[in-house]
Amino acid sequence: MTTPASSPSLSDLVAERVGFGIFVLDREMNVLMWNRFMQDHSGVLAEEVIGRPVFERFPELPRAWLARKIESVFQLGSFAFSSWEQRPYLFRFDHDRPITGGVDYMQQDCTFMPLMREREVIAVCVTITDVTHVSVMQREREEAVAKLREYADRDGLTGIGNRRYFETRLAEEFSRWQRYGGDMSVLLFDLDHFKKINDEFGHVAGDTVLRTMAQRVAGVVRKEDIFGRFGGEEFALLLPCTPLDDAMRVAEKIRHTIGDTPVDVQGEVVSVTASVGAASARPGSNDYEAMINEADAALYSAKRQGRNRSVVLLHELN
Ligand code: GH3
Ligand code: MG
Ligand code: MG
Repeated sequence: MTTPASSPSLSDLVAERVGFGIFVLDREMNVLMWNRFMQDHSGVLAEEVIGRPVFERFPELPRAWLARKIESVFQLGSFAFSSWEQRPYLFRFDHDRPITGGVDYMQQDCTFMPLMREREVIAVCVTITDVTHVSVMQREREEAVAKLREYADRDGLTGIGNRRYFETRLAEEFSRWQRYGGDMSVLLFDLDHFKKINDEFGHVAGDTVLRTMAQRVAGVVRKEDIFGRFGGEEFALLLPCTPLDDAMRVAEKIRHTIGDTPVDVQGEVVSVTASVGAASARPGSNDYEAMINEADAALYSAKRQGRNRSVVLLHELN
């Protein structure tokens, strides 16, 4: 088969057609080849850039990084790579994704190939692959996982942390307390005669009351405190770095937050109070359960004493 001298070779035709960028640099960073993909995405024609240093037309390129990469391929004679995860892009090319995708420029994987002649590297061929779709997918996956994690920690009805979340955080805070000492208290609180509220106003109204109370309390706790729905109409609030007398002040604040203002449920005025049990971590304590049990016993005592009160067990005060 004869080919006229002026017509392009097969490999030229392939380089023109492939769906990724191919360009070649010499050791001085002059461009020796620039394929169609590079022309289309950069808007710079081959004849405008060939024979010139690549940085002349693209001053925004990461100069030191690219020069080092090319030099290393010249020196070692081996391939080098750069993934979008390390460096999102080499060239600032637009991508064809909706702007809402969250990526600014086309995300690129790059390969640096030594071109050898008689065992000597004469130039470096760089390929640029558009991996924007991969990066968008990964971002979406990460967002979905974060959302799932968030759902796993939230209570569906009230929107505050669930028991799993509370206990995980409690375990962490307890370990910290064991290591560094100081104070730590917990409050358990439970809505009074909640069964009656359900009976009188209906379960849906009961749900609204629960949600409202959880949100009210969430609005008054400090950001260091850990709040969660412990079960049914019972809630837990962990107060790191808080001695018991301060915890009792917080208990009273919560009791008033719940009880002072009735909830309006579709025109019905629903009053609800809460009982609170408080306890502190005792020096030398090996697990947080003892503290929770003491708070639970204090809560039980508050119920027995007539409800709508905050209680700490007497022996706790020594
Ligand atoms: P006490 O003052 O002794 O706490 O009385 P109580 O009626 O609140 O206590 P009890 O444990 O007997 O009843 C709790 C009620 O809370 C029963 C249950 O139906 C209701 N409850 C628990 N979870 C939910 C919920 O998610 N929504 C609604 N509407 N009610 C709930
Ligand atoms: Mg109750
Ligand atoms: Mg209860």
